Amino acid sequence: MNWQIAIDGPAGSGKSTIAQAVAKELGFEHIDTGAMYRAVTLKALKLKINLENEEEFHFLETTKIDFESQKIYLDDQDVSKAIRSLEVTNHVSLVSKYGYVRKKMVTLQQFFVANKNVIMDGRDIGTVVLPQANLKIYLNANVEERAKRRMKERLEQHQETGDLETTIKEIIDRDYKDSTRLISPLKKADDAIEIDSSNLSVECVVKKIISLVFERGYKMEKELKNENVELQEQTKEQKEELVEEQVTPEEEVITEVVTEEKVETPEVVAEEKVEDEEETLESEDSEASETTEVEETSEEETAKAVKYKELQIVSGTVVEVIPEQPENKAGSKVIKAKEERVLITLEDGQEGFLFKRDTAGIKEDEDLIDLFCEGDKVEVAIKKIFPDGGKFIFSTILLNKRKELEKFGAELKRDTVFTAKVLKQIQVGLLMKYEDFSCLLPTSQAAVAEDELATLVGKEISVAPIRVDYGRIRIIVSQILADRINARADKKTFMETLEVGQIYDGVVKNIERYGAFVEISKNVEGLLHISEIDHSRVFKVEKVLNVGDSVKVKVIKLEKEHIGLSRKALIPNYWEEYINGKAVGELTTGKVLEINNSGVVMALTPEISGFLPKSEFSWDRDVKLEDSVKVDEELEVKIIEIDATKKRIILSKKQLVVNPWQSLSVKAGDVVDAKVTKALPEGFIVTIDGVEGYLPKSTIRSIDPNSVEIDQEIKAKIRVLDPEKNKLVLSMRDAEERIERETFKSTMDLQDKMSNTFGDYLKQSKKK
Ligand code: C5P
Repeated sequence: MNWQIAIDGPAGSGKSTIAQAVAKELGFEHIDTGAMYRAVTLKALKLKINLENEEEFHFLETTKIDFESQKIYLDDQDVSKAIRSLEVTNHVSLVSKYGYVRKKMVTLQQFFVANKNVIMDGRDIGTVVLPQANLKIYLNANVEERAKRRMKERLEQHQETGDLETTIKEIIDRDYKDSTRLISPLKKADDAIEIDSSNLSVECVVKKIISLVFERGYKMEKELKNENVELQEQTKEQKEELVEEQVTPEEEVITEVVTEEKVETPEVVAEEKVEDEEETLESEDSEASETTEVEETSEEETAKAVKYKELQIVSGTVVEVIPEQPENKAGSKVIKAKEERVLITLEDGQEGFLFKRDTAGIKEDEDLIDLFCEGDKVEVAIKKIFPDGGKFIFSTILLNKRKELEKFGAELKRDTVFTAKVLKQIQVGLLMKYEDFSCLLPTSQAAVAEDELATLVGKEISVAPIRVDYGRIRIIVSQILADRINARADKKTFMETLEVGQIYDGVVKNIERYGAFVEISKNVEGLLHISEIDHSRVFKVEKVLNVGDSVKVKVIKLEKEHIGLSRKALIPNYWEEYINGKAVGELTTGKVLEINNSGVVMALTPEISGFLPKSEFSWDRDVKLEDSVKVDEELEVKIIEIDATKKRIILSKKQLVVNPWQSLSVKAGDVVDAKVTKALPEGFIVTIDGVEGYLPKSTIRSIDPNSVEIDQEIKAKIRVLDPEKNKLVLSMRDAEERIERETFKSTMDLQDKMSNTFGDYLKQSKKK
C-alpha cells in the first residue's frame, strides 16, 4: 500500500491515458490533476467572474471537487465531459497560474493520496505535489505528435478538431504558459525518468512504467506476500522485450534502469544518504562489517548478489550454527576471534550469516544453537550486502520490524494521526520515532518553513502517515496532512454542537463580493452574506468589514457543512423602531448634519437621518441654504415621505408655514406699497404681504435709485405676478405713470364738468 507514481509532462503527451492504463494494471487509483484545474476553470466561466483577477477565485472556498470511478465531480455534478470543451482548454492555463488556485488544488491532491496507492498526472506532481513519490516519470513527445493525438481525441469525443497547424499552435501556446508561469511551472523533476512517447505505443509505455514500478520496490512488497510471482515473471519478460525496443536516447536511460537491479537515479542516491544517517539511529546495524567473516566470492556470485537489496525479506535454510571461536595464537600468527553465527543459504545458493545481535527474541543467556537447527526454514531480512563478495548479514530483528510495520500499514485507517518524537534533522527532512517505528517527515510535508525544521528536534509532533516504506522499514509521514486531519476533526466536533441561534465572536478571514467568511471556531468558517451585515443596505463589504476584524455573529442557517451567519441580527433595528412610531405628516425635530447643494441632511435620532430637500426648505425658491441654516442647528420639520425599501425619510420645513404666495390679495396691475429689503446691483428686493419681489432700478425714474434705502416704502405697480413660479416683478415708473394718468384724467373730468352748461349737468345727473 501507499505507493505513489508521479507523471508529469506537456499537453498531449499522453499522461492521462498512460496513467489510467497503469492504474488499471496495478489496481492503483488514478488522479488526473489537469481535470481538477479544468473543473476550476469551468466553474469560473460559469460564474462569469473576471478570470484576470485572482481575488475572484475565492469561490473555491465553497467548491467541492472529487473523483469517483474515473469521473470528476464538481459540486457533486459529473463534469467529466464539460471540462474538455475548447473554451475550458483555452482558459485553463490562465487559471492554473494563480497561487491561490494552485494552493487549493495541491492541498486537495495531497489529501487524495493519503493512505492509497496512486498514480497522479499533471505538471508539478514530481516537483511539488508528490516530491517523495516512489517513481517519477516525465512523459514527452514531439509537438506534432501531441497535436495529432489531441485532434484524434477530439474527433473521438465528437468535438471540433481544427487543423493540425492550429492545434500545434494551441499546444505550443499552452506549453509556453505552463512552463513559464511563476508558480510551479511544468518542469522535469531532477529525479524523474524521461520517456519520449513520440514513437511508442501506449502499451509499450505502460509496460515500461510497470517494469519500473516493480524495480522500485513494489515488486518486493508483492514478493513478500508471495502472491505476485506471475506478475514478476511477466515483468522479466517485459524487460527483455524492452531491451530490444530501444529507439531513443531517453529509452536507453530507461533500459539501463530496467536492466540494473539497483537503480542509481539521483532520488535513490539521495535516499541512501538518508539511510546512512538512519544507520546511526539504529546503531547496532553499523558495525556488522567489522565483525563479519566474509569469504572471497567469485564475480558470478557478486553479479547474483546485486539482485538483492538491503532490507529485503528473503527465505532460506539454516545450513549450520557455527560456534564461537576465541582468538588463537599459532606461533606468531593470530587467528581472529569469531562470534557464534548461523549460516543461512537462500534458494538460489546465496549465503549469509545471522548474528546474535541481529536475532529477535533471543535472551541474554541463550545461544543461537538453542534457537536454530540445521535444515530449519527461516525468513530473514537482509541487513547488509557486502559489495565485494555477495555475502549477506541477515537480521530477524529487522524482519520483525518490517512485519510489525506491515501490520501497522494494514491497520492504518483514513485520517490516522499520531504523535511522534523528532530525533534529528537530516538532509531530506526530519527523522522521527513513533513507538518502535522509524518515521521520515520530508521537508515538503512539514508545517514549518525549511529553516525552522531544526526547532522541532526533540519535540513530539502530530503527524499523519502518508506511505509505509517497506523497503526502508519506515513510515513516511506528513505534518501538513495531520494538521488538516486534526482541523477537520476539530471542525466535526464543533459542528456537532453548533445550533441555529448561537452567537459567536468571529474573525473575518476572507472578503468576497457577496459577503465575508467569518471564522467562528478554529478552522470553522461561516458565510456572513452581504445582506446580513447591516440593516441598511451595504454596497461593498470592505466598507464595513476588513480581513482580521472581530465581528459578533449569530448562526442563522445550518445546511450540511454550510453555516449562515448574521451580524445585523445582533444589531438593534433602529429604522424599524423609528418608523413604527412615525407617520407621514407628523412634525418632528432634528439636528442639521450636513448642508449641500440639494438640501439638508438631518439627524432625527443618533441612528436615523432624514433629508430636507432645498425645494422643501422655504417657499422662497431662490433661498440660499448656507445663509439660512447652520450645521448643528435644531429645526422643526414635517415628515412628508417614508420609503421603507430605500430606508429614506423626506422632510419639509416650508410646509410648517402657509404659502404666502397663495394668500396674496393683490393682482397684476395693482399699485402697491412695497418695502425695500435688499439692494442688488440692478434693482431691489422688496416685500409685499410676506412675499418677495423684484424692483429693477431701471423702473425708478422720479427719484435717484441710489438714494433708495432699506425699509423704505415705495409705490410700485405689479408688472408680473405668477404665484406658481413664485415670481413677482414691480415697476415704480408704471405706478407713477398710472398715478399721473389718473390725476390727469380726474383733472380733465373736472374741467369738463366746469365747462358744461348747468342744463347739461342736470341732464347727466338725471341719466345716472
Ligand atoms: O493535463 P491537462 O491538459 O488536462 O491540463 C490542463 C491544464 O491544467 C494544463 O494546461 C495546466 O495549465 C494545468 N495543470 C497544472 N498543473 C497540473 C495539472 C494541470 O497547472 N498539475
